[in-house]
Amino acid sequence: MRMATETGVAIGESEWEVKVPAKKLKNKLHFENLKAVVMDTGLCSRCLTCVSICPSGLIVTAEDNVDFPDYEERCLDCGACVRVCPRYDYKPLSGLGDYIEFIAGQSKRFKGQDGAMATELIVSAIDMGMIDRGLFVDRDERWMTGIFHVQDAEQLGVLTLGGTKYTFANVLPELKKAVMFTKRGVGVVGTPCMVSGIRKLQQEFPVFRERVKLVVGLFCTENFHYEEVSRYLQEKGVDFSKLVKTDITKGKFIATMTDEEVKFKVKELEEILPGGCNVCTDFTAVESDASVGSVGSAKGFSTVVVRAENAKKVINYIREKRTAEFGEAKPEELDFLIGHKKKREENIKRD
Ligand SMILES: Cc1cc2nc3c(=O)[nH]c(=O)nc-3n(C[C@H](O)[C@H](O)[C@H](O)COP(=O)(O)OP(=O)(O)OC[C@H]3O[C@@H](n4cnc5c(N)ncnc54)[C@H](O)[C@@H]3O)c2cc1C
Repeated sequence: MRMATETGVAIGESEWEVKVPAKKLKNKLHFENLKAVVMDTGLCSRCLTCVSICPSGLIVTAEDNVDFPDYEERCLDCGACVRVCPRYDYKPLSGLGDYIEFIAGQSKRFKGQDGAMATELIVSAIDMGMIDRGLFVDRDERWMTGIFHVQDAEQLGVLTLGGTKYTFANVLPELKKAVMFTKRGVGVVGTPCMVSGIRKLQQEFPVFRERVKLVVGLFCTENFHYEEVSRYLQEKGVDFSKLVKTDITKGKFIATMTDEEVKFKVKELEEILPGGCNVCTDFTAVESDASVGSVGSAKGFSTVVVRAENAKKVINYIREKRTAEFGEAKPEELDFLIGHKKKREENIKRD
């Protein structure tokens, strides 16, 4: 149900209902402001927080970019998109952020990109009753992303659920659905820009504050538009029907197929680097409850940065159930990529 009210727009019914005060900016439609400040300037990270909250449901991802066709006639002018966009009034984040523990982990029951600790955190949070579903980025045979609601460990038999897809994924529009369906709470894994979008949603709308119970952020240097990166990979000889893993490590993009490996310098992808990644300085997802990445720990392990009490409880549960092994991680090994993202953004500002 959707209705315009004097104070804004109400979305849905009963406990889902949220009211958005209609605060006018610059005497333009709110979406027009968002477009001028974020999309037209190349700041948009395609986190899709705006898509997830727009009560008209008409902000879309057209050819991988965020757009609102016919917004002049169809925008309800409620202002929700502006209020949740992490790039509107952008304050770049950086560094390691605050943490309680900085550790390496390897799940004993799941296989993943590194130590499968992103998966282990979400599934353990389900097992201990903190949440009843976690959102995972799945892929099809062409490596196009889709979102899957994991509700128990057995579903992790879908082998395409773990691992990194270096293309944008529609996690946040799906988060809105997960929040509507959940009984206990939702867990979500996302890139730093998505984590910032979730924090904005939680700041603005109590329903997200109450129901999103675990936010796992991934370390991230960059991500890519599907069409552009898949065209590039095909030109490099990658056969998607045989592709089993993609990774960026030590400055190299590595596509592992069933019978061969294609490897090239990630710098070559600079020409297709999205503007929204170019201006991002948050490598470690500083606003997450726990961050997980590759760099900082031994091969086969994930680096886990435990930042908040809810994530600490999950880690304690994993220790108690012995479903993962833990070891030492080295924060100083993240310095290079944290610095790289800062320098990249400074160069953009200078140009
Ligand atoms: C675009 C991108 C860039 C990254 N860059 C770096 C980097 O520069 N340095 C580094 O150390 N680590 C980076 N990572 C993180 C790293 O690749 C692993 O995801 C991380 O170490 C977790 O590994 P795991 O084995 O614990 O995860 P797994 O247990 O295998 O789980 C992987 C999780 O990642 C999620 N996921 C996969 N693709 C996407 C996507 N496109 N968007 C949102 N979520 C996704 C899945 O839903 C799943 O929950 C990046 C991740 C992404 C998605």
